Amino acid sequence: MRRYRTDVLVIGSGLSGLYAALLLAERGLRVVVATKENIEVSNSHVAQGGIATVMDSGADSFQKHRDDTLAAGDGLNRPAVVDFFVRNGPAVIEDLAALGVSFTRHEDGSFDLGREGGHTARRVVHADDITGTEIISALKSRVLADRRIEIWQHHMAVDLITTRKFNLSEENRVVGAYVLSHEGIVVTVEADAVLIATGGCGKVYLYTSNPDVATGDGIAMGYRAGVPVENMEMVQFHPTILYHEKVRSMLISEALRGEGGILKTRDGRTFMEHYHPMKSLAPRDVTARAIDRELKKRGDDYVLLDMTMLDPDFIVHRFPNIFKRCLDAGIDMRREPIPVVPAAHYLCGGLQSTPEGRTCLPGLFVAGEAAHTGLHGANRLASNSLLEAAVMARYAAEEIASWLRGSRRPHHPLPLWSEEGVSDSDEQVVVKQNWDEIRHCMWNYVGIARSDRRLERALKRISLIRQEIAEYYWNFRVTRDLLELRNLALVAELIVRSAIMRRESRGLHYTIDHPAKEPEAKDTVITAGVVVS
Ligand SMILES: Cc1cc2nc3c(=O)[nH]c(=O)nc-3n(C[C@H](O)[C@H](O)[C@H](O)COP(=O)(O)OP(=O)(O)OC[C@H]3O[C@@H](n4cnc5c(N)ncnc54)[C@H](O)[C@@H]3O)c2cc1C
Repeated sequence: MRRYRTDVLVIGSGLSGLYAALLLAERGLRVVVATKENIEVSNSHVAQGGIATVMDSGADSFQKHRDDTLAAGDGLNRPAVVDFFVRNGPAVIEDLAALGVSFTRHEDGSFDLGREGGHTARRVVHADDITGTEIISALKSRVLADRRIEIWQHHMAVDLITTRKFNLSEENRVVGAYVLSHEGIVVTVEADAVLIATGGCGKVYLYTSNPDVATGDGIAMGYRAGVPVENMEMVQFHPTILYHEKVRSMLISEALRGEGGILKTRDGRTFMEHYHPMKSLAPRDVTARAIDRELKKRGDDYVLLDMTMLDPDFIVHRFPNIFKRCLDAGIDMRREPIPVVPAAHYLCGGLQSTPEGRTCLPGLFVAGEAAHTGLHGANRLASNSLLEAAVMARYAAEEIASWLRGSRRPHHPLPLWSEEGVSDSDEQVVVKQNWDEIRHCMWNYVGIARSDRRLERALKRISLIRQEIAEYYWNFRVTRDLLELRNLALVAELIVRSAIMRRESRGLHYTIDHPAKEPEAKDTVITAGVVVS
């Protein structure tokens, strides 16, 4: 099959992709969900903590959730956008519950609300400590049972198709995408609307909590098609990933600190009191920087997260998954502290979008971590991202349905993917070498603490690597590795350029050369075409 036609192409099967697909199908639309791996593989699936939402109107309020989000965002959030997401929280929670997501509840049926760093109230709706797995498994059952939705697993979107690219009409709009199938065939998917739900780009860094699929593909595709990116320098580093010789990318949830876990150096001393009045409950940027500082100062490889003062039964009951995984790795968190390090975790920036998922390109919509709406500002408050993914999916489905009512594309077949003059690569080592170089370079030069010199160095290195990739890309048949590398490299350059543009320290972005904040908070915006793509 080289060509396929559908109403809506959803790229990605995390919370935003699956939830939007269901809501689109409910509106009678035919949907294809293309996803790079198995349906479950996504950041959403591994989310542990939960979804921040005001569900206890006695002890909490929209105002408090809004204030906490704004405090974390350090002046860069858009207050009206924050309001929009906070107020829509309860409705999406009820809707997800109605779709079969089994959140943890008390005996009286009320939600068990967790507390996390930066929150002044208990407001994190969760399913034990496997919230993401529970959400994705419920949505997956629904999606697989819906005959209007086709799931294409192991299908990777390569690039969007625009009318401008092929001179198809005066107005530039998105009319589909090329998708690489698991058999290595590039399918031309003709769609009246495309939703990018491809998540973040943690894999751009050497150490990350993200699964391997998080290579920034949707952001790269959207940027190449003409959508600006915003605040790409705002990469959140999670302070606590398990430090272990063999276990990769295992997140130690913020909820552990929320429930009383205390950070210590390897010699057993507390240190967070030197960095923030909330000590171990400080927002994650402050905590990640504090740990980075302590590690560099002491030459240690990790710090400790101590839970041993808590009731052992509570630990097992509240964190069954983390407890078991730590135990499998040889660490009994009831009796010994957990060794942890920071790692790249979440991208606050992304494709410029309205909170309802509209981009500047007609026919192209975005939801979830790939989008930048202005909710998170310069730092995401814990558990606000699943909230963003769910609320955006809901509104994007509505936007797409109303857009399709007014704007069906006259159907003429789109050009097939051309493989003229290309051959199979016999130099896979080039891809691997460039991949490793980018991730090391980003970790060392564009990590938790930045400087002008390091950023300039990173830009030089990445520009060179991108030239090499461009030559390679046009000569050889595309593979998933090559496509991911190309996207990763573009996203890396967008992050570095945005970091260079921000000549201040704000929220997550800390640079030793500009430690103060500018009086006015401004977004860094890179419009299409500024970076060769
Ligand atoms: C370990 C961990 C724990 C977290 N815990 C929390 C938490 O407790 N609360 C919270 O609010 N947030 C949490 N987050 C963040 C949150 O999980 C994500 O921001 C959110 O799930 C993003 O959802 P999404 O739908 O945008 O993308 P994702 O869930 O990442 O889904 C992206 C999908 O796109 C697919 N894809 C990517 N590129 C392509 C392509 N080219 N073609 C086809 N498919 C593609 C992927 O395979 C995947 O299916 C956590 C993140 C991690 C990594």
